[in-house]
Amino acid sequence: MVTLAKPVHRAPRQPKPIQRRARVRKIGAGSHAQQVRKANALWVALIRAKEPSGICPRCHKSKWTDAAHLFTKGGYPGVRFDLDNGVPLCRMRCHRRIDSDHEAKREFALRYLGKERYEALRLRAIGRGKCDMLLTLMYLQQTYDKFLKPLPAAECR
Ligand SMILES: [Zn+2]
Repeated sequence: MVTLAKPVHRAPRQPKPIQRRARVRKIGAGSHAQQVRKANALWVALIRAKEPSGICPRCHKSKWTDAAHLFTKGGYPGVRFDLDNGVPLCRMRCHRRIDSDHEAKREFALRYLGKERYEALRLRAIGRGKCDMLLTLMYLQQTYDKFLKPLPAAECR
């Protein structure tokens, strides 16, 4: 025997209220991954701006292509977005070289930053201080706005 379910009387569906999306995304809005992507885009743009000539500051021969970390982002996450920890380098001659030769990297970093700034960066790197994403983003955004023009919207997402 087939039993039919009793019809359930429901109140008519109410239309969902329209939620207005904020037009301006606040600094720090979005997931952690989105914040990291945005911080990285700002960091890369600021590092590239260090050498407006476009020439790699290590070999003075090739054009720079990469924003290289002096202290690796994996080994020293606390200085991943530190502006002293980045330098625009050419990939083939210099970035690969310093990433595979610790002494060459140290020697270049000392020359590029000077002894005092290098030592201060080294202490920040080994200090294992945690990188506060919100403060990092605010700092990078303020520095970017002060020195560079607004990022294309695609990179801000
Ligand atoms: Zn180079």
